[in-house]
Amino acid sequence: MLRLTCPHCGVTAEETELTPGGEAHLRRAGPDATDAEFESYLFARKNPKGVVFERWRHAHGCGKWFIAARHSVSWQVFGTYPAQTTEPPADLIETIRAAIPTWEGWQ
Ligand SMILES: [Zn+2]
Repeated sequence: MLRLTCPHCGVTAEETELTPGGEAHLRRAGPDATDAEFESYLFARKNPKGVVFERWRHAHGCGKWFIAARHSVSWQVFGTYPAQTTEPPADLIETIRAAIPTWEGWQ
């Protein structure tokens, strides 16, 4: 079972207490975007076999959104942080690079 610690209230919750929100750090298509760019924004997801950044909501707790960094195969959780950020915190990136030296980055 996936267990994530909410960065807002500090509670470690099982996934049944959380609501998934999909891939994090999506770049929204602007008003000048082409149809292909808008389609990519709406439907194309990376879905890598490795490190993923996902949005989660602590639905049965404080109700706030956060982002979790975890490995999609081993389910190792590297950390969580509030969703109101545009990129992962530097210390989390270092933690992931220490665990997986071959990791290519979050973008
Ligand atoms: Zn919470």
